[in-house]
Amino acid sequence: MSGDALSQDPAELRRRIDTTKAHPARVYDVFLGGKDNYPVDRDAAAAALAANPRGYLDVRHNRDFLRRAVNRLTQEDGIRQFLDIGTGLPTAENVHQIAQRTAPDARVVYVDNDPVVLAHARALLTSGPEGRTDYIDADFKDPAHILEQAAKTLDFDQPVALCLVAILHFVEDEEAYPIVRGLLDALPSGSRLVLSHLTEDLNPENIRAVQRTYTERGFTFVLRSRAEVERFFTENSLELAEPGVVPAHHWRADNAAPVPAQPEAAYLATLDAIEKVRYADINDVTDADINVYAAVGKKA
Ligand code: SAH
Repeated sequence: MSGDALSQDPAELRRRIDTTKAHPARVYDVFLGGKDNYPVDRDAAAAALAANPRGYLDVRHNRDFLRRAVNRLTQEDGIRQFLDIGTGLPTAENVHQIAQRTAPDARVVYVDNDPVVLAHARALLTSGPEGRTDYIDADFKDPAHILEQAAKTLDFDQPVALCLVAILHFVEDEEAYPIVRGLLDALPSGSRLVLSHLTEDLNPENIRAVQRTYTERGFTFVLRSRAEVERFFTENSLELAEPGVVPAHHWRADNAAPVPAQPEAAYLATLDAIEKVRYADINDVTDADINVYAAVGKKA
C-alpha cells in the first residue's frame, strides 16, 4: 500500500468538497446504492430517473462490465497492472479486489479528480501484501502528471490495462481523443484499453432526456456513437477483443449475482425512485434499458 494523496490536510480536503452542486462520482454512487453522496446528488439522480426510470441499470451494468473485463484480463490474458482513471467512489468490488482474487501480485493505480473520492481513497489502498495499489488525485486532462506518478507503482515495460470506464462522456472530442492516444503511446505492446461510454445509438429518447437533466446542472455530457467509440480503438491501432463494441450487458455476459447495494443506505427510502435502485435485480434487463457501449482492445 502507498498513497501520498492520503497525506492531504483534512481541513483543506473539506474545503474542496462542494455540497451545493451535484458531482458525477456522487450521483453515480447513488445509482450503485452507496452512501457517499449529498442531497444535491440525490436530487440529480432523482431527476435522471424521472427522465429514464430504469436508468440505474446503465450504471449497474457499466460497473458489472468493469468486473467482467478485469476478470478476463487477469484470468485469461495474464494482465497484472491496471491504470484506472475516473475510479469513482469505492464500492465492494474495486479493480484491485477483483484482480487480486486471481492474481495477488496485481498492481493498480487509481486516478480521480473528485475530492470525495480522495477522501475515501483509503478503501482503495487495501492491496494484499504481494500486490500494490496507489491513488493519484489528478485530472484526466493532465496525462503527463498521471503517467509520471503512476510510474512509481506500475512498470511501463510490462503491459498495463488502461481503464477508462464511464469517464469519457465528461470530456469533449478536442481533449478526449488526443489524451487517450497520449496515454496509450506511453504503454507497451500488449497493453489493453478497457472502455465504456454512454451513447444515444441505443435508446435515444431516454438518454437525451437524461442528458438534459445533467447539462442543466453544468455537467459536460457527450454521447458518442458506435463509430466514435470505435475510433478510440482504431486510431490507436488496437485490436478489439470479442465481441467488439457492444451494449455493456452483452459484453461477455456471465449473469453473476449483482453485488448488493450497501444496506446502510437506508435514507434512500425517502426517494421512491432511488429506493428501487437498492433492490434492483440487474439481470432483469432488456436492450431497451441500456445506453452504454463497452469494449476491450489490445495494443499491437
Ligand atoms: N469508473 C467507475 C466510475 C465512473 S463515474 C465505474 O465505471 O464504475 C465517473 C468518474 O470519473 C467519477 O468518479 C468522476 O469523479 C471521474 N471524473 C470525471 N471527470 C474526470 C476528470 N476530468 N479527471 C478525473 N476523473 C474524472
